[in-house]
Amino acid sequence: MDLELFKKEVSKLGVFVTSDMLDKLYKYYELLTTWNEKINLTSIVSKDLVYLKHFYDSLTICKAINLNEVDSLCDIGTGAGFPGVVLKIFFPHIHLTLVDALLKRIKFLNIVISELSLDNVAVIHARAEEYGVHERSKFDVVTARAVASINVLLEYSMPLLKVSGYFIAMRGNDDSSGLENSYHELKCSKVKCVSMKLPVENSARSIILFRKNGETNKKYPRKNSVIKKYPL
Ligand code: SAM
Repeated sequence: MDLELFKKEVSKLGVFVTSDMLDKLYKYYELLTTWNEKINLTSIVSKDLVYLKHFYDSLTICKAINLNEVDSLCDIGTGAGFPGVVLKIFFPHIHLTLVDALLKRIKFLNIVISELSLDNVAVIHARAEEYGVHERSKFDVVTARAVASINVLLEYSMPLLKVSGYFIAMRGNDDSSGLENSYHELKCSKVKCVSMKLPVENSARSIILFRKNGETNKKYPRKNSVIKKYPL
């Protein structure tokens, strides 16, 4: 996906784009590919593919939610910053928290945040389930792209969300069927799944949106939790 196609497809998502945002995105691409030679961040390095499979793909979340109305967003298992950093570049008003369990990725993210002069970003080295113990009911939206199975992600995300907040899972296919028991126990519901094809290569994408309907059990993990090993 070259820059012209990127701009065209992103404008179809209803995202407002400025030259400053595109400059920041290019700087992010340069940092990603430079640091990728020293630490393993991504297997995708060609510019066209990074713009398609990391940058555009991160922004497809706009098909499921209006980010202009979101104040606080936590991206769990963010890796090299997807979707979190891309969303922050295009929606600079967001108070962003990036969480990952791998220290080398956290170090890279701190460099990105500093080099791109992004403000109101917290970079947290933690497992999401551990972070959720300390930071309960804090975020409007929690995101996760390619991190774990849906039932595990619901356990991670629900404690972090405010009541009425949304967890958004970004995946290849919708694999959320048969989880009604988890929804009930975690006081959440599936709102919708937006399915699409990525431009150029036509691969399947699903954005699944869940709403937190009530406060979760303060005792964590819950008795029937799918999280087997608890780090604290
Ligand atoms: N979201 C990024 C993306 O789409 O490119 C990274 C995906 S990568 C496959 C999964 C990331 O999740 C890794 O960086 C890993 O360290 C992190 N991760 C896995 N389990 C985690 C957990 N329980 N808490 C925090 N991070 C976790």
